[in-house]
Amino acid sequence: MKYVSTRGQAPVLEFGDVLLAGLATDGGLYLPDEWPAPTATQGWSGVGYQDVATAVMAPYVAPTLSDADLASMVEAAYATFTHPDVCPVTPLGVDGLHLLELFWGPTIAFKDIALQLLGHLFDHELTTRGQRATIVVATSGDTGSAAIEACRGKDHLDIVVLHPAGRVSDVQRRQMTTVDAPNVHNVAVAGTFDDCQDLVKALFADESFRTEVGLSAMNSINWARVMAQVVYYVTAAGALGATASSPVAFAVPTGNFGNVFAGWVARQTGTPISQLVVGSNSNDILTRWLSSGVMEQHGVHPTISPSMDIQVSSNVERLLFELYNRDAVVLAEAMAEFRADGRIDTGDTRLAGVTEVFDGAAFSDDQTRAEIRRTYEETGVILDPHTAVGVAAARQARRDPDVPMVCLATAHPAKFPDAVEQAIGIRPELPAHLADLFDRAERFEALPNDLPALQTHVRRVISR
Ligand SMILES: *Cc1c(COP(=O)(O)O)cnc(C)c1O
Repeated sequence: MKYVSTRGQAPVLEFGDVLLAGLATDGGLYLPDEWPAPTATQGWSGVGYQDVATAVMAPYVAPTLSDADLASMVEAAYATFTHPDVCPVTPLGVDGLHLLELFWGPTIAFKDIALQLLGHLFDHELTTRGQRATIVVATSGDTGSAAIEACRGKDHLDIVVLHPAGRVSDVQRRQMTTVDAPNVHNVAVAGTFDDCQDLVKALFADESFRTEVGLSAMNSINWARVMAQVVYYVTAAGALGATASSPVAFAVPTGNFGNVFAGWVARQTGTPISQLVVGSNSNDILTRWLSSGVMEQHGVHPTISPSMDIQVSSNVERLLFELYNRDAVVLAEAMAEFRADGRIDTGDTRLAGVTEVFDGAAFSDDQTRAEIRRTYEETGVILDPHTAVGVAAARQARRDPDVPMVCLATAHPAKFPDAVEQAIGIRPELPAHLADLFDRAERFEALPNDLPALQTHVRRVISR
């Protein structure tokens, strides 16, 4: 398998290089040069998640990784999950709705599914090359803890996570700062999340520093993250016995479009999926695009589903590349126009290619709380606010009530206890492995919003 950049100006690479590179050198995103042959979905029932994962991902990682190496990393990655099925599907008990529970990993949100595997993939690739890397992440909450859990204790990785001091929830901060591993380094920056992101960008922009510390990223545009997420669409379709003549639909609470794009890849490679519903909070750039063909940036609005508070969904570029018939020149022009004007019109014919399978619906915080309440009253199930956006979107945008609708449950409700309590008056409890979170010792360094101070700190902590 070879990988090409959506902008067409970067070298064609194999999996190992794409993994470590993240973004392509021309600013584009990497995609396989062709989609692998369809993976069978029938006959999967009774086959473990890990075996399906290895079968689905094997074509994407060759020739960098052998099937045996991939299988052992998959085993290790999902051994940290507390549910034997890894990503179980459970009926919600109303209207043929199902939940695909993606929150059984160490940080009780869906980013663990990709990041637990990425930690092993990075460590393996760096070991092969005899290199070390320093992963730097800016987080407004969730990504930081998932990246820390992915990297903790890995021999060839250090991780430095910047969070805005006093601006992440106690649960989120403690999930990061109570991890006791010598290669995990938390920094509380005196500033906002944007300041943290600007510092990370500045670190990457400093060429000599970047090389000196082997700077690398695991962000959501990394192809390997999308790849790892394709698996649960395949296992969920299999669990529901989907076939070409009786497909399934998925509803996905969406931010950067990584998760739902993985659903598109699953469909592209033979999984019988008839509809993909994009659920948005009031940051609704995608749902506006799906209804108008115009993708237009507005500002970011803070909501009770903060992991979906984004202005631009970076992974959409991968879908656009397909819709522009993989014409990198035309796509690069469109992306330049979007960057300059904050707006592009993707046009009727292209939009038809998207709306053939995608629908979208957006919900305010009040509507999200109402969905948490409604689902709880109807079924006794407590949804987190992100999942609630997806369930509300499933109900609103569903095309065929006879097609099973699988709603992706992207976080455990205990991760967002305030929003849940506002909705139903119940404060969900943390699962057993996090029950003593508030008794654990915290470790972090407080730093000013200052690049040289951060660089000095990074040099010091990685040369332990
Ligand atoms: C990151 C995240 C999302 C959004 O996923 P994307 O891949 O960015 O679309 C939704 N819910 C939760 C809980 C998340 O952490």
